[in-house]
Amino acid sequence: MTTPHMTIARTVRGLRIIATPWKRGGLRVGVVPTMGALHEGHLSLVRAARAMCDRVIVTIFVNPKQFDDASDLAAYPRTEDADAALLREAGVDVLYVPDAAEMYPPGFATTISVRGVSEGLCGGARPGHFDGVATVVCKLLMQTLADHAFFGEKDFQQVHVVRRMVTDLNLPVDIVTCPTRREEDGLAMSSRNRRLSADARARARALPQVLQRCAGRITAGEAPSAAMEQARADLLAAGFDAVDYLELRAASDLAPLTQSPTTPARLLAAAWLDSVRLIDGVDVAPAG
Ligand code: AMP
Repeated sequence: MTTPHMTIARTVRGLRIIATPWKRGGLRVGVVPTMGALHEGHLSLVRAARAMCDRVIVTIFVNPKQFDDASDLAAYPRTEDADAALLREAGVDVLYVPDAAEMYPPGFATTISVRGVSEGLCGGARPGHFDGVATVVCKLLMQTLADHAFFGEKDFQQVHVVRRMVTDLNLPVDIVTCPTRREEDGLAMSSRNRRLSADARARARALPQVLQRCAGRITAGEAPSAAMEQARADLLAAGFDAVDYLELRAASDLAPLTQSPTTPARLLAAAWLDSVRLIDGVDVAPAG
């Protein structure tokens, strides 16, 4: 089902003029926070939001506070017109596109910092990243007045950070997690994939393959440390330049696991290919 009209809001005030009557009227509002350069993974979140909510807001904001690397921020793809066309087609009610001055006006002084689940993994490799994520997600939840917010499992640690923040701050929103959408060869869809050369794109498929193979070996009873050491070597042999991390964590709370898992686990990795950092993760069923 599509709606004929999608409003584009660029200010909190403009957004609230639309969303406040929805809330007063008892409509369920869903939000899908994104950084744009939309692909099928984002659209799967939009579909989940449409199925659950009366009104859907998608946000596009390339959040400078979550980039630890200025060149990565500068190179991040920005395709607002194409994104808007996709979202209109998908039946989104409001596209909210604030700029940095709207999000962080002069004098802005608050940071939300979630300890524990934000440490290590992407939090270790990208200092300050999850403070930026938590701060902007909290603002987006408050600005949109959403009842449900939709996030992708692809950013597994991010989901844990957001859930922890929502619980700790009693934010009145339900967090919904959606599975990772993949290309035909298994590569997780990502806005960063468009920065890969054709040659690097061909090599990138090794990331999900190596993770799946490693997960299978751990479930089959192989020691996680040996299986993961092999997986690191496999990634480098497949043409990745460096592995930021490759770790086994408990799916429920991201606790590091060194032994064969006895409860659901997740194998998580970030690796570099031609100056592009790709992340992915796969479920690991308990051994035995
Ligand atoms: P981003 O624009 O990369 O910040 O992502 C916005 C949201 O879309 C986040 O909740 C991501 O986890 C989610 N997302 C990104 N890629 C995928 C994917 N391949 N499948 C499902 N969700 C995704």
